[in-house]
Amino acid sequence: MNARPPLRVAVTGASGQIGYALVFRIASGELLGAGQPLILHLVEIPAALPALRGVRMELEDCAFPELRDIVTTDDLGAGFRDVDLAFLVGAKPRGAGMERSDLLLQNTDIFKTQGRALNEHATSETRVLVVGNPANTNALVAQRHAPDLPARNFTAMTRLDHNRALAKVADKLQQPVSLLRRLCVWGNHSGTQYPDLSHALVDGRPLLESLDADWVEKEFIPAVAQRGAEIIKVRGASSAASAANAAIQHMRLWRENTPAGDWTSMAVPSDGSYGIPEGLVYSFPVTCSGGRYHIVPDLPISSYSRERMERTRRELEGEKSTALG
Ligand code: NDP
Repeated sequence: MNARPPLRVAVTGASGQIGYALVFRIASGELLGAGQPLILHLVEIPAALPALRGVRMELEDCAFPELRDIVTTDDLGAGFRDVDLAFLVGAKPRGAGMERSDLLLQNTDIFKTQGRALNEHATSETRVLVVGNPANTNALVAQRHAPDLPARNFTAMTRLDHNRALAKVADKLQQPVSLLRRLCVWGNHSGTQYPDLSHALVDGRPLLESLDADWVEKEFIPAVAQRGAEIIKVRGASSAASAANAAIQHMRLWRENTPAGDWTSMAVPSDGSYGIPEGLVYSFPVTCSGGRYHIVPDLPISSYSRERMERTRRELEGEKSTALG
């Protein structure tokens, strides 16, 4: 039997709460599928290495058949050496009294270093998903410091926002999520994101025929955008399992295909579509096929949507100028 060579998957912040929810699912084969061996590269800061050793022991105790080896390290060279997929989850959280711009700058340093290390050590087609916040701008910073890697391979996660939008609409209509298609999230993974139902279908019919515009504007959009904060309030900690779930979905769809007639949301370097400046890491509706994503072209954009898309673009451009100067 011809065994497939293992793929190497890196996860930074691997002992954090999202990391802990993510690495077991990757190791179980949920990301790459049965029959695809993998080697996990778990990357942490020095202070978190003891906890990471515990994660490693638990992974070993799962005896996952496809998990061929585990690298645990605080060294980015070893962490990213020959990796095919990288989940950049670790990031500095906002501390007491810290301004958003301070957070941005501290994370800029982290993602500059990680971009350079990926450039030097990862495979030439490595695919990168940034989860650590501010995710879009962190992805942009990493991409700018990895000049030898394809820019389009640096992406950030908005699939969790997409899933939150799906769940909210399904609940409102009392319909299963499986009947919903073509929702999308535009822009930044932040409060300015624009979850858009204008193109969405329920059981093949335009979704907005069944929903009140007032509900969409006053309840749906704020509820999706503020869902993370709501979870922190209720759970006493930020979302982790749902973020890990969305991260796996993002990478899996990217490697495989989006279902026929549907799309997903991914923050990717803009190609200029919809007037979004080239290179800005902005969430678009995308389809995936042949291992590539494609921004859904030529959607009609209403003046209401345009205004929301511009608002989140302006925020991202502000973040970009703070981060890159
Ligand atoms: P989490 O695992 O909960 O979160 C990690 C990152 O994901 C944060 O930036 C968080 O943003 C972000 N995130 C993105 N989307 C979501 C979402 N929907 N819900 C929740 N979080 C989201 O953080 P922990 O503190 O538990 O773990 C972080 C790990 O990273 C630690 O183990 C730490 O050691 C490591 N770390 C690594 C650094 C590095 O690589 N240099 C630097 C700092 C920490 P937000 O903060 O906005 O919730």
